[in-house]
Amino acid sequence: MNIGALHSILLVLSTVHAFQYNQLAQYIDEHQEDYVEALRDWVAVESDSSNVLRRSELHRMMEMVAQKLQQMGGSVESVDIGEQELPDKQRLALPKVVTAQFGTDPTKHTLCVYGHVDVQPAKLEDGWATDPFNLTEINGNLYGRGASDNKAPVLAWMHAVEAYQKLSLELPVNVKFVIEGMEETGSNGLEAMILAQKDSFFSDVDYIVVSDCGWLSRRPAITYGTRGNCYFLAEVRGPKQDLHSGVYGGTVIEPMIDLIGILDTLISPSGKILVPGIREAVAPLSDDEWRMYQDIEFDVDDYKNKIGVSKLMYNNKVDLLAHKWRYPTVSIHGIEGAFSDPGTKTVIPSKVCAKFSIRQVPNMDPAVVEKKVSEHLHSVFAKRHSPNTLTVSMVIGAKPWLADIQHPLYEAGKAAVKRVFSVDPDLIREGGTIPISRTFQDVTGKSIIMMPIGGFDDGLHSQNEKISRFDLSDFCFLSVVLFLQMLTQQLKKNTRGRSALDYFSESY
Ligand SMILES: [Zn+2]
Repeated sequence: MNIGALHSILLVLSTVHAFQYNQLAQYIDEHQEDYVEALRDWVAVESDSSNVLRRSELHRMMEMVAQKLQQMGGSVESVDIGEQELPDKQRLALPKVVTAQFGTDPTKHTLCVYGHVDVQPAKLEDGWATDPFNLTEINGNLYGRGASDNKAPVLAWMHAVEAYQKLSLELPVNVKFVIEGMEETGSNGLEAMILAQKDSFFSDVDYIVVSDCGWLSRRPAITYGTRGNCYFLAEVRGPKQDLHSGVYGGTVIEPMIDLIGILDTLISPSGKILVPGIREAVAPLSDDEWRMYQDIEFDVDDYKNKIGVSKLMYNNKVDLLAHKWRYPTVSIHGIEGAFSDPGTKTVIPSKVCAKFSIRQVPNMDPAVVEKKVSEHLHSVFAKRHSPNTLTVSMVIGAKPWLADIQHPLYEAGKAAVKRVFSVDPDLIREGGTIPISRTFQDVTGKSIIMMPIGGFDDGLHSQNEKISRFDLSDFCFLSVVLFLQMLTQQLKKNTRGRSALDYFSESY
């Protein structure tokens, strides 16, 4: 094709795009009230996945998701993912995973949207200003449990598809949905389902998009990495029962003192992990990465004020971001069996179990971390010559996830954010763990992008969770624009084998 022809095609294409943008934006603007009402209906369902007494609500929530997708004309399936075993050995049906598909055009890219509709627990008595399951608007903010995490984002993706349908515009991509109801308690059953459908539902998926995180500041962001987590239990057992410290203190070797002694060898006061072989595995910080962190919007004083501390581990932005996102850390969470009630009981606990975790980053391997931590703790424990016994076990071993930001998917994402917010997004990572991204990457081999909206002050998992009314629309518009943007990527892909003109005349 000659350059002139290509130019005219791109011109026509950008005119079509501009026309579609405007039509879609107007449609979304006009339907903001409908989006608020849809969110209200979903927030009213107490789909708390951690409370087995609310399981029927969770099932009802999944049915509502399936119904919405069916009404939109998708081919919908409610996938049975089996049962979960409760600590009392009782078995309980897991909420079904809802999958749906819109469009099967083999010449188009297929984007799969992942989201969850279960929520964290919430009670008015926890300190909510409003009923957490009755969406309440105050100054343009919509308060309710699950509003931001993750019901509004899931609805936004659906509304984006719906906007195309209602305007009789062809969807620029095939869109699939995978919506689950167990995310807040570890996505029980989802990995097995993804594995089972790897060669069916996921076989034609090109990209996966997740909107289950937040921005870092008021500046729009795209997330390209999350830390993993290795969670440990270290138990020290001593006398056969708790003892009186007046009667026995000074004669027995106390399990708690052993435990605290070994815990103190995990990390230095300046944040250096002391377990041999852990820091060595960490990918070095590259110059590019350092430069990227320099440009990210992050106010150190705001951060300090938000958490109420006068001093942080590091006092500059780059070090703080690097240690929040791309370096491992040790956190000690608690000690089971320790005397933690109010009062002054003079007890020597006979058995204590520490809980601590190490956040994982590339290129750490949970299996290696498990071995190194266990060896280290046993070696420092042995030096104490204690008669007590130590057992170390790793109960969670979630790997980190890191995407290639040079991938065309990220080009599309960045362009979509720029189109909607008129600013380039910050490319950020998440210090927490969202295991599903890594699972998707490992099992399906597809590229994953995380596109959040707002969220830095949305109070996820906390009291007074909210999403702004405007974020609802922006989210929807961002989804719509990402679809369009992916069409551009598609064209680039297609021009390699076929001409853009062929594709263009077929599609429009
Ligand atoms: Zn979430």
